[in-house]
This record gives sequence, structure tokens and C-alpha cells, in this order.
Amino acid sequence: MLLSVVVPCHNEESVLDALVDAVLAVEADLPETVDGDSPRLEVVLVDDGSRDATKSIMRARHERDERVRYVSFSRNFGKESAMLAGLSYARGDAVVIMDADLQHPPHLIADMVRLHREGYDQVVARRTRDGDSRGRTAMSRMYYRLVNRVVDVSIEDGAGDFRLLSRRAVDALLQMGEYNRFSKGLFSWIGFPAVTVDYRNEPRQGGGESKWTLRRLLNYGLDGVMSFNNAPLRLAIYLGAAAMVVGFAYVVFLICAAVVAGVTVPGYVTLVAAIIGFGGLQLLFLGVIGEYVGRIYYEVKQRPHYLVAETEPGIPTGGHIDP
Ligand code: UDP
Ligand code: MG
Repeated sequence: MLLSVVVPCHNEESVLDALVDAVLAVEADLPETVDGDSPRLEVVLVDDGSRDATKSIMRARHERDERVRYVSFSRNFGKESAMLAGLSYARGDAVVIMDADLQHPPHLIADMVRLHREGYDQVVARRTRDGDSRGRTAMSRMYYRLVNRVVDVSIEDGAGDFRLLSRRAVDALLQMGEYNRFSKGLFSWIGFPAVTVDYRNEPRQGGGESKWTLRRLLNYGLDGVMSFNNAPLRLAIYLGAAAMVVGFAYVVFLICAAVVAGVTVPGYVTLVAAIIGFGGLQLLFLGVIGEYVGRIYYEVKQRPHYLVAETEPGIPTGGHIDP
């Protein structure tokens, strides 16, 4: 049995060596297979357009140890693309995805493999939010509640990309070639038996800030809703219908009032309020439609998810390698 550990890396020179050591050390702890074989391990490092020494560290590690493999992108394509590349390069019978910054404890890998042996296709590591600030925790909670209400797939709070996937789960993920990838949703969409293990949230190692700014989080949240269904468009239909009913009712009321009492109020305020209100509503949903059209535009172009600039010798480079 071969286990692949996929690690997307963007400017991680300060922790990369420690991470690779920690992951390679796990090989000895991996539980034996039923035939008594000891599982082997490979590390697939994906350099997502780092501007520091990340790539040369990868190259050096590969030269020292064949178990370390690497792919380097031509520029920064984002973590989703890096994970996709890692999954398509991984040769293992099971694949673990983890972050480079040691926030995902490598010692959990052995437990994950043990659970995988029990027949689970996905072993999801869920972090407890011990070390997080109150505000951040509350925001995540709200986000997951909202997303789960809107989206057809269910996404769990704290369950991130740190997980083990069986070969068939990986192959299923690789079949989904959409350009806008929202992994949390994709993981849930493919189904298969899954189990969760909890771990404590470790502080980020190797200095540096988390790359998640508020704007990025908001965009990510929007992605989560938009890439999994057309609920926002539905909302437009419902809101439009409700406004129409209210509008008609009001017109009927006004006509009756005029006939019965002969009142002819100027109605200036009502008019302005209606124009502004409906103008805003129309612009908002024009934006929603535009967002979907934009997504279609990106999908239709069928651009590769990433471009490879360098890999370990023996693997062809240049362009997206189809799984
Ligand atoms: N990452 C990446 N490409 C990017 C941003 C991040 O490959 O454009 C990697 C990064 O090196 C790390 C993982 O994705 O291994 C998670 O990044 P980070 O720690 O910044 O995110 P957080 O832990 O705050 O979710
Ligand atoms: Mg991190």
C-alpha cells in the first residue's frame, strides 16, 4: 500500500523542511496492511508560485529522498488548484491532503489510515476552535449555518481540507473538472462513507500571517453558495413575486380609496420609495445573474487549472496533465 501526502505550499520556506521531516517520520507509525505489508509513503509537494526559496527546498529534498516528489506552478494559481494538481500527481492508494504550516498535525495521519482500513473512503480531520478568537469563531459558525441552509451539500464547521481520501474518492474528485473549485462542497458532493476525527487547533508555525483576509473570506463564502446551486436566482424569483403581489394589492387599494372617498393624495413619497427600492432590488439581482454568467464564461473558456513550470525529473512538464 502506498500513501500519498499532498501539501500545497505558497511561500512556506520557513516550515517546509520541518514539515517534510515530520511527514516522513510518520511512515514508521503507519499500521500494517492485512497481508502484513508495511505501507510506504510519498510526499507530493505543490509549489503554488512561491516567491521565496520554497521551490529550491523542494528540489533539494527530492534529490535527497525519492519519496519526496514535487510540482511547481508557473505562478500562483491558488490553493484549490494546488490541491487539484497534488491529487492528480499522487500515485497512492490513499491520499492525505494537509497544509504546509504545521497547523495540521502529521501524527494524525496514522490514525486516519487506521480508520481508512475500517472501510471509510474519507477520513475528515475536524479542528476544535480552542485557539481561535471569539469573533472569528462566531463568524465561522454563522457562515456554516448560512451555507448549509442554502447549499444542497452539507459542510461541517471546522472540517477543512485536512483529510484522507481513498483512491476511488480521489478519482471521483478528479472527474470534476469545473474551473471554480470549491473543495469543501466537492468533498461532500462525492459522498462515500466518511468519518471525522477531532484535533486541536495548533498556532500557525514559521511566522507569517494567515493568507485569509476578510475580503478573501467573503469571496470564499460567496463561492460556496454560488458554485453549488442557483438558490440566489430562486430568491430573486420569490422576492420579485412578493413585490408584485404587494404592488398589485396597493394599486387595488388606491383605486378603491379614490372611488369611495375620492381621495387624491399626491403620493410623492410612495413613488420615490418604490423607485429606489425596486431599482436597488433589480440592480442586486442583475449582479447575481451577472455572477452566474461570469462563472459560465470562465467554465466555457476551459482554461487549464494550473500550469506546471517544473517537476521532479521523469515527469513531463508544460500544461495541465489530465488525470
Ligand atoms: N496556499 C497555497 N496557495 C495560496 C495560498 C495558500 O497553496 O495561494 C497553501 C499554504 O501554503 C498552506 C495552505 O494553502 O499550506 C493554507 O494556507 P494558510 O495557512 O494561509 O490558510 P489558513 O490555514 O489560514 O486557512
Ligand atoms: Mg494555515
